[in-house]
Amino acid sequence: MFAGYYKKTREERLAILREYAGLTDEELAALQAEGALPFETANHMIENMIGTFQVPLGLGLNMVMNGKEYAVPMATEEPSVIAAMSSASKLIARSGGMVATSSGRLMTGQIAVYGVPDFERAKMAIAEQQATLIDAANAAYPSLIKRGGGAREIVVREIETAQEKLLVVHLYVETREAMGANMINTMVEALAPEIERLTSGTAEMKILSNLTDMATATATCTIPANLLLSKNMGGEEVRDRIVRAFAFSDADIYRAATHNKGIMNGVDAILLAFGNDVRSISAAAHAYAAKDGRYRPMSSWAVNGAGDLVGELTLPMPVATVGGSIAISPLATLAQKIAKVENAEELAMLAVSVGLAQNLAALKALVTEGIQRGHMSLQAKSTAISAGATGAEIDMVAEKMLAAGQINLSFAKEIIKQNGGT
Ligand code: NDP
Repeated sequence: MFAGYYKKTREERLAILREYAGLTDEELAALQAEGALPFETANHMIENMIGTFQVPLGLGLNMVMNGKEYAVPMATEEPSVIAAMSSASKLIARSGGMVATSSGRLMTGQIAVYGVPDFERAKMAIAEQQATLIDAANAAYPSLIKRGGGAREIVVREIETAQEKLLVVHLYVETREAMGANMINTMVEALAPEIERLTSGTAEMKILSNLTDMATATATCTIPANLLLSKNMGGEEVRDRIVRAFAFSDADIYRAATHNKGIMNGVDAILLAFGNDVRSISAAAHAYAAKDGRYRPMSSWAVNGAGDLVGELTLPMPVATVGGSIAISPLATLAQKIAKVENAEELAMLAVSVGLAQNLAALKALVTEGIQRGHMSLQAKSTAISAGATGAEIDMVAEKMLAAGQINLSFAKEIIKQNGGT
């Protein structure tokens, strides 16, 4: 039924799908609703395109980073993420705001060379030819030089696999405003024949590494304990509980995974809104969290000499303001304008700052009132809509569920029925 699907027009694809899945007129209409991303463009972005998928886009507010205020576009389907980011950012702004730095932006390419007869000779040959190899890499992508970027350094590693020892050549490239995956892949493929000649091995694999540890951004915040005061807990107690929560995640991988998921709630949301490759950034962040040989929390929380709570987050941030499909995605370019972000380095620092604010919000809620209270008010609305509530009915059903402490589909349906709905 799907033979040659990729060659069909969108209308033909929808007709086939309609028959295959037994779609109703209403379901078909959902696929036919065009959003900000034109079908024509989307059809050139992926294969077998049938429609565009929408996620709510909101503004994370109150973020102050390096003295500049930001309204941060965030795309997420999860309730509470934006509210949490905005409330933690407000607290951090009252404490002087986020301080963010960047390590610079060198992306990494890898060439894996198998069957090298003499490792020491191979390493020496590459070291001697470093300048020529860098020139060859640059010759494969000359426009990057014109933009002030280009290949910068070659480092050789030895890796012991379960089967053999191999030589891995790392090429570090300054990719300017681009993430650089295609740029780097072009360069490492171009270098491979010369690397084979110098090492007498076979370059079986040439691709970028998503662990971009030469392109990191760091955010820190310092919050006086008295500002952490919550309804039924003193600020110092909240501070100490947050530090204990960090220690828990540092000692337990089950907790670390959730700690880090909370950080990525914010990081993914901002970078999805900016049209970035969130899979690449997630891969980088989780690999970096395990760089010590053990999966650990991405952020750290401690108390300084003055008794303030100090949070810090460093993540690899292979973000971009150009390249991929950013320029053709109308909302991605709009995000840059709304956030007033001028370059990829600023975006990297902003994303890490959002991640740290998100982390603070989650930890503070967890160690005080628990995460459910804030979560559930928005969750109640989604549940009410899922149960069929519309218009003013949504808030009414949500409030009744919250008051009863019962947020589930069957209760929502019961409320709608009691109020004369279907
Ligand atoms: P592109 O291949 O789109 O290259 C960047 C483009 O941006 C180039 O055409 C470049 O123009 C242009 N450009 C304009 N201004 C600038 C500037 N100031 N600095 C740099 N470039 C500029 O994207 P990338 O190489 O960044 O690759 C990213 C894409 O690769 C993403 O879509 C990603 O999903 C995908 N990808 C990811 C992989 C992974 O993560 N493992 C693997 C493979 C692909 P010019 O050519 O004139 O220099």
